[in-house]
Amino acid sequence: MTWGTIATWRMAHDGVRKASDLLAQAGRAGDAVEALINVVEAYPYYKSVGYGGLPNEEGVVEMDAAFMDGDTLAQGAVGGIRNVMHAVSVARALSAQHYNSFRVGEGATKFAALNGFEMTNMLTDRAKAQWQHRLAELAAADLDPYDGHDTVGAITLDRQGSMAAATSTSGLFMKKAGRVGDSPLSGSGFYVDSERGGATATGLGEDIMKGCLAYEIVRRMGDGETPQAACDHAVYPFIETLKRRYGKAGEFSLIAMNPRGDWGVATNVEFTFSVATSAAAPQLLMATPGPAQTTVIAPVTQAWLEAYEQRLKAPIDLSR
Ligand code: ASP
Repeated sequence: MTWGTIATWRMAHDGVRKASDLLAQAGRAGDAVEALINVVEAYPYYKSVGYGGLPNEEGVVEMDAAFMDGDTLAQGAVGGIRNVMHAVSVARALSAQHYNSFRVGEGATKFAALNGFEMTNMLTDRAKAQWQHRLAELAAADLDPYDGHDTVGAITLDRQGSMAAATSTSGLFMKKAGRVGDSPLSGSGFYVDSERGGATATGLGEDIMKGCLAYEIVRRMGDGETPQAACDHAVYPFIETLKRRYGKAGEFSLIAMNPRGDWGVATNVEFTFSVATSAAAPQLLMATPGPAQTTVIAPVTQAWLEAYEQRLKAPIDLSR
């Protein structure tokens, strides 16, 4: 049987390799999606997810995450959780509960601590220095404080035909304490149904929520659209609607996969993603908005990868 996985941003690529190894050996979709996201959460240089994630304006790392099982439609999510290494694993544990499956703030953190999840201070010296630099910049000039975010979102399809989806993020850099984005919200940041397909989002949560875009893509796949058509038709007209009626639209990037392992992407920015299926080895690709509400997809160049690596690990003055 076909298997597949797709995930947001360059940062997901190693996780996609790991998930594809599991899926190729008949591993289950839920285990593969959790393993994929755990790789990203633990890597200290990714500054928008898990350990090393950038903090809120008070200097505290608050994370959002979700997990959904496409067979049972069970979901678990956390919002504003602190001090936990693998927020997505907490979300997955919560998905086993009928009640209390979406926990926020102190209640979410307490659940993780009481249930044996790895607890640690998630603010690295590097992230703390970036926060301090940003505070100084903001004090000196009138800048948009919300510069820097990204969610790892992923969809998996296993050989048995089951699907799963999950997300994890530290949200907007410099967000207000208690701010929760789209990533843990069903239908906005994620949705998956093994009979129709799955979708996840990254971008400005406040605007993604206005369109419930992950559910809209799944709904369209259920009506017979290919994942690419569903992404294009859900995302681009909605961006126009927002511009017309709300006056502006933030950044949006969505990925989708159907139960056959076909996939699609739509975005209004330069957007990297990683995809692997039983028919194609893990590939890192770049999507950009194309003409007439379409998406252009091309391989990521070596030059881009090198520049990314340099940006990611650029030295930061830790002495301030
Ligand atoms: N969607 C995330 C949020 O709004 C951030 C991102 O994916 O860029 O918290």
